[in-house]
Amino acid sequence: MAKKISRRGFLKGAGGTVAGAAVAGMAVGAGVTALPPRAQAAGAVMNKKAELPKAMGARVVVVGGGWSGLTLSKYLKKEDSKLDVVLIEPRATFMSCPISNLWLAGLVDYEFITHSFLDAARNNDYTFFNATVIDVDRGARKVFTEQGFVDYDYLVLAPGIDYDYGAIGVSDPEDVYMLSTHYPAAFKPGSEHLSLKQKIHEFEGGAFVLTVPSGNYRCLPAPYERACMVAAIFKKERIKGKVLLLDANPDVTIKGPGFHAAFEELYKDHLEYVPSVTITGVDVHKKKVTSEFDEFDFDDAAIYPRVRAAKLIETLGLVDPNSPQKEAHIDPFKYNVVGDERVYVTGDSRPMPFSKSGNTARSEGKFVAKLIAARAKGHDVEWESPRTICYSVVNIDPMEAIMVDATYAYDGESFGFTNVKMINDRDSIQAQSTLEWARSHYRDMFS
Ligand SMILES: Cc1cc2nc3c(=O)[nH]c(=O)nc-3n(C[C@H](O)[C@H](O)[C@H](O)COP(=O)(O)OP(=O)(O)OC[C@H]3O[C@@H](n4cnc5c(N)ncnc54)[C@H](O)[C@@H]3O)c2cc1C
Repeated sequence: MAKKISRRGFLKGAGGTVAGAAVAGMAVGAGVTALPPRAQAAGAVMNKKAELPKAMGARVVVVGGGWSGLTLSKYLKKEDSKLDVVLIEPRATFMSCPISNLWLAGLVDYEFITHSFLDAARNNDYTFFNATVIDVDRGARKVFTEQGFVDYDYLVLAPGIDYDYGAIGVSDPEDVYMLSTHYPAAFKPGSEHLSLKQKIHEFEGGAFVLTVPSGNYRCLPAPYERACMVAAIFKKERIKGKVLLLDANPDVTIKGPGFHAAFEELYKDHLEYVPSVTITGVDVHKKKVTSEFDEFDFDDAAIYPRVRAAKLIETLGLVDPNSPQKEAHIDPFKYNVVGDERVYVTGDSRPMPFSKSGNTARSEGKFVAKLIAARAKGHDVEWESPRTICYSVVNIDPMEAIMVDATYAYDGESFGFTNVKMINDRDSIQAQSTLEWARSHYRDMFS
């Protein structure tokens, strides 16, 4: 069993925090070291202007090249070609979360879900800056990255989500590290997905635990779709394994009849659905999930904890004090930070109860682009509802899907679904529409 260390001890020993403390001018003392010259020089780079093309108009800096940020960057230029748009994103390659469950099951290849930020920027006439945002000075309107700062007239923060392992009883940094490394959620694109695919295809049998978190988590149907895809692989490859789907919610959160039909009719021997499981801990070493009432042993797992807004929102002091998921404090109709019409937050970091999904982020991104372009000219525009369209593939042979399509209405107190179209009877027409839906979004973002 790995030695436990306290959170305080971990923070004292963590290199990043030491550097942060020194940059912040904290006293050098026990557990904190003076920065060597090259590290100091790296810190000083942040005070220099980033080496980017000169701004040719009012500059809008977009932080985060996901579904939200890519859409905003393109549509800001479409709304007003004179705007100078810079997209800041630390990843070098775009990988799509939507359709990744199909890729796990071998229904599409890796090229289908990966795309080039360079193509997106070049084809849509904005600047791609491959860097990480570390801080923002809203008074001076500067965004700081490890490669220098960028001045802005308007700033959009679209950094997505982070995981909140504390909500499932895993708070010690060492335990969080072990859990996120050994049993990654795979709800943020990249290495987590690659690990998961390998785990599934190399699985030798037994219980493969997948979990559905509480709260407004990223993509309501995706954990159920994934459970179907993993069960389908076990069935097809005759692996003596079973998906144990532990749901924090009392029932499937969306498209319930469609998913239940798939669980019961297609995967009876390969999938067990367990609702109302409030996870209170995960023992990585004993391979055991503990809940309020039960314990579940597993042979392998992908543990999806509750989600929160990306940590950048908290770092910048923009968290809504009433948001349990640490989402941003913004005007729910205009997306600007309360009291600051120069800074906006979109995508999965928003606090409104919209589905945290790509289609939602894209339709919203088009609206916010229109809003910023109008405001830059001294006008305003009326609120438009985002639109959520979500297909879920539940069968691989033949490929069949279910779907939901909805917008949102405000009743004076909160937002709720309206104009809902739901197809729970799986069929191959919806499966073809799933692929066409994805192709059209990729086409729009990258060409
Ligand atoms: C398995 C799975 C299946 C899904 N299926 C669907 C589906 O079928 N349909 C659908 O509509 N949605 C689906 N989704 C949801 C969809 O992927 C997300 O809702 C969408 O990606 C949200 O967009 P975003 O731009 O807010 O966040 P993201 O797409 O996560 O983008 C955030 C970006 O911000 C960057 N970033 C973070 N911090 C910083 C920083 N400090 N500086 C600079 N950049 C930073 C990140 O690198 C990232 O690229 C699915 C998600 C998953 C995981």
